[in-house]
Amino acid sequence: MSTISQNGSFAENQPDEQFRDKISTVDKSGKRIWIYPKKPSGRFTNYRTWLSWLLLLILFGLPFVKMHGEPFVLLNILERNFILFGVHFAPQDFYLFAIAMLILLVFIILFTVVFGRLFCGWVCPQTIFMEMVYRKIEYWIEGDYHAQRRLDASPLTWDKAWKKTTKHLSFFSIAVLIANTFLSYIIGMDEVIRIVFDPVTRHMTGFVSMLLFSFTFYIVFARLREQVCTTICPYGRLQGVMLDNKSLVVAYDFVRGEPRGKIQKVKAAENDLAMPLTDRKGVVASSTYTPLPVLGDCVDCKLCVHVCPTGIDIRNGTQLECVNCTACMDACDDVMEKVHRPKGLIRIDSIEGIEKGKRHIFTPRALAYSVVLLLLIGVEVLLFSLRSDVEVLLLRTGGLLSQEYADGTVSNLYNYQLINKTSKDIALEFRMMEPSEGTFKIVGGKTPFVGKNNKSEGAVFIRLPKSVLKSGKNNIVVGAYAGDILISKVKTSFFGPVK
Ligand code: SF4
Ligand code: SF4
Repeated sequence: MSTISQNGSFAENQPDEQFRDKISTVDKSGKRIWIYPKKPSGRFTNYRTWLSWLLLLILFGLPFVKMHGEPFVLLNILERNFILFGVHFAPQDFYLFAIAMLILLVFIILFTVVFGRLFCGWVCPQTIFMEMVYRKIEYWIEGDYHAQRRLDASPLTWDKAWKKTTKHLSFFSIAVLIANTFLSYIIGMDEVIRIVFDPVTRHMTGFVSMLLFSFTFYIVFARLREQVCTTICPYGRLQGVMLDNKSLVVAYDFVRGEPRGKIQKVKAAENDLAMPLTDRKGVVASSTYTPLPVLGDCVDCKLCVHVCPTGIDIRNGTQLECVNCTACMDACDDVMEKVHRPKGLIRIDSIEGIEKGKRHIFTPRALAYSVVLLLLIGVEVLLFSLRSDVEVLLLRTGGLLSQEYADGTVSNLYNYQLINKTSKDIALEFRMMEPSEGTFKIVGGKTPFVGKNNKSEGAVFIRLPKSVLKSGKNNIVVGAYAGDILISKVKTSFFGPVK
């Protein structure tokens, strides 16, 4: 995607070389440009760091949380056993999952329409691991961006060898930790701990899968890095259709910042270090000096570019690569403070906000998405409240006729299926509800039983007095009871004798 200008006149004023038709990390020959971002610091970096620690704590801590002796969250797709916030879900609840995914999709679209790609920079696990874990280790071992660049360009020495080895060993160890954490969401933390302490030969398949996942995470964070956000992630690719000029994004205030100009030139022109910015907009120039061309607030220090983890210049407008990490906001605020200009030259704002000073968060588009979102949430809540923990299916066995007995009763054969989504074993008993008379005879004689998070099947004869049958096909209601508690009411049909 080419660099998009936010404002036509601004675009016309920029040299051609500032605009591109390729991503920022690829050079003219198609080779990757390795990004060495400067270590960010400032207010927003601090907020992001605190939020990241909280999210990492939740990610790594949740598999250890239990409720009634069971994982609080478990997504065991292998055994089709799902627990979300202590509530069991069976594959039969897939419709709830499908609606939940739709809710998530509409929420992401709505959030993006209003707040741009803020999710990417602040909440996405890829950015959190990359910027708050891996990048920090890299800064700690190899130093800031200049030192890293020098180290990579230097010949192999003892210093380079131990730094690179330590870094990559640390990277791989964290990748193993991430792989095991994700595994614990699938098979449970108890199982992961057991596998870890068992001899490797007992879990060869699991061990090889874990190594493969670890290696994948290692490649993602050691090599792919920002390429995941700029070329692989589908959410990133969709930005172009979701954003409009009312969306809040990390944006450079070109109205205030342009025309940009280096502060040194101004100092030289004025020869007055005490008043270096008298040529800036909004500052009254001293009458003792020759009037200078009026510059905007951007002093063209390029610090916003140096801190950018995706290697872009935010002054060229909203771009596909921007993950809204806000590192450039911190860098620029720091510069503005030093040159005694108001902060927020790069800030979270909409293009309309920058051009006209107007901000409309709840645009008709955002309101339409909100309505759809609320409707979907309503449907999900309703269906969730109607969902039962134990499902009972009772179907007349196909191809069989009714059987008449000498005592004036008629029987039909049924197949039943019990699905237990709770963490307790349940024994059930069938009782007639409509009509109130009737008896049940379980084929095999055993009480219907279903283990926790399991399902069971069986067959049962239902016998009704002929006198309660109104026609050849009758509607009946059967109650499934656990003790005296009615678990489920099942409507089915009962065939009378053929006349
Ligand atoms: S950090 Fe601010 S002043 Fe420096 S180049 Fe970027 S926008 Fe201009
Ligand atoms: S332009 Fe700014 S907000 Fe966007 S990715 Fe670069 S540093 Fe982060």
